[in-house]
Amino acid sequence: MQLQSYQYDTFRRHARAVIEPAVIHHWKTSQDAMLERLSQESKVILGGDMRADSPGHSAKFGSYTVMDLSTNTVVDIQLVQSNEVGGSYHMEKEGLVRSLALLEARGVTLDCIVTDRHPQIQKFLRDRNITQYYDVWHMAKGISKKLEKISKQKGCEKLQKWLKSINNHIYWTAATSTTGPERVAKWTSIVNHVQNIHTHEDPLFPKCLHDARQTRDKKKWLQPATPPFYKMFPN
Ligand SMILES: [Zn+2]
Repeated sequence: MQLQSYQYDTFRRHARAVIEPAVIHHWKTSQDAMLERLSQESKVILGGDMRADSPGHSAKFGSYTVMDLSTNTVVDIQLVQSNEVGGSYHMEKEGLVRSLALLEARGVTLDCIVTDRHPQIQKFLRDRNITQYYDVWHMAKGISKKLEKISKQKGCEKLQKWLKSINNHIYWTAATSTTGPERVAKWTSIVNHVQNIHTHEDPLFPKCLHDARQTRDKKKWLQPATPPFYKMFPN
């Protein structure tokens, strides 16, 4: 097409000299303002998670992101290289450690932090006496994976009809509960619901909230003491 265009080298030179410094300057300025605002607040709730450059356990780089959950804004990103911390497994904790050190240096007081269930993170936060909650995305993913596996076993195919509803139920439970016991009551009501029982013993959640309409698919209900039921609720 004979289109005139600048060379990649030229683009890189401009990026290095102009674009990148501008991006970094803008980020630093807005991060400063965010940290200043957060340091004025008494109870900051954060979310944190690691993103790696490749799936599995062979990542070379990971970036740990910390987010202020009341405004859904990213407060800090730490880039960690696996060989500086003794392997990719250790990147997650190191990223969090660095972010928390920055927040502490800027006078930010944490109320609690929401993360996945990475064992090193759990131990670190416990040792530091920081309240930790598990994020619902990782919980739902873990539970769904297990249920999917069970639903592929012989005799448990019925469970497949429930995978989506149960996943929704996890998110709904997390989003609508204000206390721990309420969460437990709502979450465990699923044991009854899948058996076509919609009133529950726990006074914190005595009744399902859905319409009492008749389902067209009567075969979906599970019977107690059948493989899909006891594999789903082993206790
Ligand atoms: Zn129900």
